[in-house]
Amino acid sequence: MKPPMIIDCHGHYTTAPKALETWRNAQIANLNTPHLGPKVADLKISDDELRESIETNQLRLMKERGSDLTLFSPRASFMAHHIGDFQVSSKWAGICNELCYRVSQLFPESFVPVAMLPQSPGVDPATCISELERCIREFGNVGINLNPDPSGGHWTSPALSDKHWYPIYEKMVEHNIPAMVHVSTSCNSCFHTTGAHYLNADTTAFMQCLTSDLFKDFPTLRFLIPHGGGAVPYHWGRFRGLAQELKKPLLQEHLLKNIFFDTCVYHQPGIDLLTKVIPVDNILFASEMIGAVRGIDPETGYYFDDTKRYIQASSILNDEQRYKIYEGNTRRVFPLLDAKLKAKGL
Ligand SMILES: [Zn+2]
Repeated sequence: MKPPMIIDCHGHYTTAPKALETWRNAQIANLNTPHLGPKVADLKISDDELRESIETNQLRLMKERGSDLTLFSPRASFMAHHIGDFQVSSKWAGICNELCYRVSQLFPESFVPVAMLPQSPGVDPATCISELERCIREFGNVGINLNPDPSGGHWTSPALSDKHWYPIYEKMVEHNIPAMVHVSTSCNSCFHTTGAHYLNADTTAFMQCLTSDLFKDFPTLRFLIPHGGGAVPYHWGRFRGLAQELKKPLLQEHLLKNIFFDTCVYHQPGIDLLTKVIPVDNILFASEMIGAVRGIDPETGYYFDDTKRYIQASSILNDEQRYKIYEGNTRRVFPLLDAKLKAKGL
């Protein structure tokens, strides 16, 4: 069996040149006086700066750790959809998506872009469609990140099963793209962004789908729940039991044709549990490297987010199952990626 392509389905541009943050800070400083700028054209980042920010970071680690391709989206905590209004989010999403696109053009073998949306609390998600279309048609994006809580920790939007979100789902189905359900910075001090808000949101998204019949309305809609699915795999028995109480079908039938989990779980016992509990067909390799947890685990001597090590070391998985996690499932869940790879003979 030929070795699988190692596709990391969850990477963010966390190492963008400083000018991006400076631009954003100026935008935030002028929220109430937008005529003072900054304009989109004021942001100037050269190809060389982009190259350096990638070559010394993500690409270096991909080579060291042995992964081939990363699905690359704007930095999640910087999406900060709660800041400003739709116009503010729209400019910001446009800039961030364009940078990821440029990275994918500079390193076409290594990065494929995934879009953030210009969401804004209280604003109809249908307003995101033109940016979504631009990213798919012009930038070759193969998926989107969808924030179920644009308020940043206050949960003011309806559940993902609500018709509120249907305009986005209709577009996802039309283009055959999945969404990673991914929140951004928490502005609620009760919830630490990456330690609580992210994992809460992962768990919440799953439960919102469980209590609903969303996938009856959209049988081909696909959600990727990151960070190993939050608390979901660990509490699988609770979710199975709740589905039973609610007279829902078995989870395999009810949710697992539509919901997938990544492997951003930063220790071996966690990956062992994930791969034991969740069917292998629903698990996609990811590391979210240079993300929330950047240190070295003193117990192993390796980076916490070097998740390939855990997949390799798993005593549960065989080679065929590893192929599915590294490559096969991701190509199935992201058909536009599969088509791109096939066009290159891969
Ligand atoms: Zn992420």
